[in-house]
Amino acid sequence: MTSNKLIHGLTIQEWRHNINNYVKTRDIRIKVCKYCGAFFLEGKWVNDSIDTLVEQILAHNIKKVLEVKYPFVLNSYRIRNIEVNDKINVNIEVVVNLGKERFIIMKRITLNTVQSICPKCFAKKVKVYDTIIQIRGQNRLSVDDRTRIYDIIRGLPRSVRNEIVDIKATKDGIDILLNDKRLGRYIAKVFERELGANIIESYKLVSKRPDGKTKSKLSISVRIPPSSKFLVRDHKDHLLFIYGLSVNGFLAYDFDKGKHLIVPFKTYWQWGQKAANISWRAMRVIGLSKNKVILLDENDYATYEGESILDEKFFKDERVSVLEYKGKIYVIKTETLERGLRNGKKKEEKKS
Ligand SMILES: [Zn+2]
Repeated sequence: MTSNKLIHGLTIQEWRHNINNYVKTRDIRIKVCKYCGAFFLEGKWVNDSIDTLVEQILAHNIKKVLEVKYPFVLNSYRIRNIEVNDKINVNIEVVVNLGKERFIIMKRITLNTVQSICPKCFAKKVKVYDTIIQIRGQNRLSVDDRTRIYDIIRGLPRSVRNEIVDIKATKDGIDILLNDKRLGRYIAKVFERELGANIIESYKLVSKRPDGKTKSKLSISVRIPPSSKFLVRDHKDHLLFIYGLSVNGFLAYDFDKGKHLIVPFKTYWQWGQKAANISWRAMRVIGLSKNKVILLDENDYATYEGESILDEKFFKDERVSVLEYKGKIYVIKTETLERGLRNGKKKEEKKS
């Protein structure tokens, strides 16, 4: 019978009985950030799921935490489960070889946690930052503007939001503080893409050390256009109606040329913002013909023939918004005018 065979002078049963003297575990201490749960691993702070972190800790320290004495030889180990309380208990299944025989035993390694604070959380606590994103409007920010700014911040990937040290609402706008210039630029880009914002970067020297090294803060100015549809004059003094957003720029109607166009965001910001000094008025639809909308101005009971610029369907008795420009009358639905630029974009995306 094989069980009576001797290996290094003992039977398999005797080795099995004594195995705990040969396969031993040792507890270790690890630094854990008490705010975000990051582990201090191989000289740096790592934030990941507890399973991944424990796996890495064991992989790096296996010789230290798992001792296998001669004549046993470590074959493999695997984590069976992890219990987290004030310590982290890791139950592992260890496979050891003894000659041609193989033994499987369960062992426990305790990771004693030392509460600490990682540099990222430290920066958040004391609100240290090297990048400030200042979001402003062309005029004072409206409640709508602020809402869509917060919507965009909320929509940022979690990994990006985690880097934000603070968000401050000021009288002029909203400031985002963080400690990552690259991410700061990324966030600014999101505002450019989603709202057509204009971005200007500047650096401010904050300190010069005796060794000549300098430290600077990056300030990113993010200027956003109005949240509502609006009229604006371009560089040629054409009157434009900005009614939507696309990835390439603003969707606009040029009243002077009588056609639709896309104004690239950069182009729009290069114009400088000239007030249109003209506004929409309310009128009532009293009749419809092929291409024309017959309108009644209820202030003076004058009637007009208007044309639709956005391919909309009108109904009799409907109250609409009307623009009089260079002897022509243009009509859009009032609800279209009131719908913000961003919402318009969302609708477009749903369609495609
Ligand atoms: Zn932390």
